[in-house]
Amino acid sequence: MKLGGRVALVTGASRGIGKAVAETLAAAGARVVVNYVQREEEAQRVVEGIRQAGGEAIARGADVSKAQEAQELVDFTVQHYGGIDILVNNAGITRDSLLVRMREEDWDRVLAVNLKGAFLTSRAAARYMIKARWGRIINLSSVVGLYGNAGQANYAAAKAGLVGFTKALAKELGSRQITVNAVAPGFILTEMTAALPEEAQQELLRRCALGRFGRPEEVAALVAFLASEEAAYLTGQVIGIDGGLSL
Ligand code: NAP
Repeated sequence: MKLGGRVALVTGASRGIGKAVAETLAAAGARVVVNYVQREEEAQRVVEGIRQAGGEAIARGADVSKAQEAQELVDFTVQHYGGIDILVNNAGITRDSLLVRMREEDWDRVLAVNLKGAFLTSRAAARYMIKARWGRIINLSSVVGLYGNAGQANYAAAKAGLVGFTKALAKELGSRQITVNAVAPGFILTEMTAALPEEAQQELLRRCALGRFGRPEEVAALVAFLASEEAAYLTGQVIGIDGGLSL
């Protein structure tokens, strides 16, 4: 995919899927803002890696669940690189527990980061994209948002919420040539999934048609396609990338 001349903001890009997305978009020629919330050093390392490979990137801290910080993050992108063409809402967290034990604050925090964060950054970015009459918004949903998972009611609700959000935005912004899509990964090898007990991992592997877990780079390749000119007629879709886990 060629993304030369494009500007991308990737939230939660200090590690995992976001890091791979930032690297892949930069390798395709986009200038990339690498967002993080806590791990500044890791974000700086992502930026250095991109620069060493000949790409352009800059790190910027912001908690996407906070309206002012999300707005400032988007404004920074525009001021630094002159626009915002691609927004990847990747920042996400889990706070797992069974429903009867789920604390209200864990419900609120998971909804705030995974769902409200995407609303806040998309609202800020859409204002610029509408003026430019071009844009790509890509939201990281999950198989859990489509099929549910015991112990993840908060996360499932947030990721399912992103599906409705994606479709509503696709209808609202389509006339300005802004496409909005979601990707729904299965089990991808990152810090988020490393915490899963060995037994649960083996059960997931057994159910996965390809018999292996996914790599962040594999999700990043799909995101890069959705961000490209070639994907111009693709909007409002939720694309599973789960090795057949959901079959
Ligand atoms: P991860 O390794 O845990 O990384 C999470 C990233 O989000 C980090 O860069 C973190 O920044 C950032 N982040 C967390 N809270 C934030 C906030 N309030 N504001 C800004 N950034 C924040 O996660 P991952 O596995 O790569 O997952 C990435 C996305 O894919 C998430 O939305 C996740 O739900 C989704 N997903 C993952 C899988 C999977 O199997 N891994 C499957 C389906 C969907 P810091 O480093 O600064 O803390």
